[in-house]
Amino acid sequence: MHSVNPATGETFARYDTLTPEQVEERLNRDQTAFESYRLTGFEQRAAWMTRAAEVLEARAQELGELATREMGKTLAAAVAEVRKCASGCRYYAQNAEKHLADEQIVTEAERAYVTYQPLGVVLSVMPWNFPYWQVFRFIGPAIMAGNVGLLKHASNVPGCALAIEDVMREAGFPADVFQTLLVGSRDVAAILKDDRVKAVSLTGSEGAGRSVAGTAGAAIKPSVMELGGSDPFIVMPSADLELCVETAVTARTINNGQSCIAAKRFIVHADIYDRFVEGFVAGLAALKLGDPMLEETDIGPLATPAIRDEVHGLVQDAVSKGAKVLLGGEVPQGAGNYYPATALSDLTPEMEVYGEEVFGPVALIFRVADIGEAVSVANATRFGLGSSVWTQDADEQARFVRDIEAGSVFVNAMVASDPRLPFGGVKASGFGRELSRHGLHEFVNTKTVSIGAAEGAHKSKTE
Ligand code: NAP
Repeated sequence: MHSVNPATGETFARYDTLTPEQVEERLNRDQTAFESYRLTGFEQRAAWMTRAAEVLEARAQELGELATREMGKTLAAAVAEVRKCASGCRYYAQNAEKHLADEQIVTEAERAYVTYQPLGVVLSVMPWNFPYWQVFRFIGPAIMAGNVGLLKHASNVPGCALAIEDVMREAGFPADVFQTLLVGSRDVAAILKDDRVKAVSLTGSEGAGRSVAGTAGAAIKPSVMELGGSDPFIVMPSADLELCVETAVTARTINNGQSCIAAKRFIVHADIYDRFVEGFVAGLAALKLGDPMLEETDIGPLATPAIRDEVHGLVQDAVSKGAKVLLGGEVPQGAGNYYPATALSDLTPEMEVYGEEVFGPVALIFRVADIGEAVSVANATRFGLGSSVWTQDADEQARFVRDIEAGSVFVNAMVASDPRLPFGGVKASGFGRELSRHGLHEFVNTKTVSIGAAEGAHKSKTE
């Protein structure tokens, strides 16, 4: 595996991938680690997880620089991401015990309760776009619940993958409770089928989801799928225009436009369309494209040349079918996978962008006549991850909450992940939830315990 700087195209590190024998040895080590780790208490796990937060904070700058060099996000964003991981670790250190406490249930038995127990070795298959946060939002719940973890990270961020293993060791977690496997995607199926692996969490594209969920299904193993999105950002006439425009610019270009929950489709009521588009395009035009290491840069390069080719291909396809370019749309000269903030209007269903996820800073703008059309355009993709709606009208807010097919609706705010709130999608955006108490309950055995029968209780002979 190679680390290639997206800003320059320079390969700056090389790593050997694991042989099948090494993978086998790691699986054995993880399984052995689980036998003792599952017996540790919440207090001990919380102490290690809190220490992980401290290590992340202490190393935020160094880890941030590594992410920027490997995948091109701005340094400020990368450092902020590492700090967010620390807050995620703290959330689970402080809340896992409460969320996984036994639940007493009144039945005819003397006593009945539900207890939550770890499953064992859980595989995580992760993307490069938030190379730390995606992994720590798996680590927090899975490891605090008493599982042990294996990470198969994206092939373009091997340095970040190894750094995460290092942070966990430095935090004091027993060796092998969390291990990074430097393997390619073709090795995932065999690892997941292995009896020692009990479940899988995948964050990535729809294609990867279909493949990994298929393997998990055939092996009857639980899976969580966090896949792509083409989130709507709906603007109604009563929106606070200034805040809405400013948020729209950020929501489309965060992480150089490569976020699953970036706003990708701007669906604007006709009564406010011209004013919104004028402000939005001006806001995008003012962003500075450039070296992600520099403080003044707003948008760095896309992570790989292939991603830039794909984004530009989608733009060209739309333009060839009649889309209007309001901004950008040209590949800059020179080294690096740079792509400018771009805005397209006059979009129709024949264009690939209409139904696909655009993983780059390209805004698709739609004009709609009323709330009914806004909802139907919002739901007109196979994705259903997040959504952001802008209106002061309580009835319109309620209608969006009721009718938008998505895992979240953020009203008068941009979609963001938060350790306290569940995160996930519907339709082709996946299933299962990460974060909050819901994330903790994905990788546990919800075990029913029923003790004896209450005196005089009716005993069913049929079940
Ligand atoms: P990707 O190409 O699907 O890769 C994600 C991970 O899956 C990588 O580790 C990759 O390994 C692996 N992988 C790819 N194909 C696989 C297969 N057939 N079998 C097993 N593993 C496979 O996605 P990406 O380009 O890294 O990330 C961008 C995508 O992730 C976007 O669609 C984005 O929306 C989505 N995403 C979703 C969320 C969410 O929470 N819903 C969050 C972030 C990103 P290799 O690198 O070795 O190919």
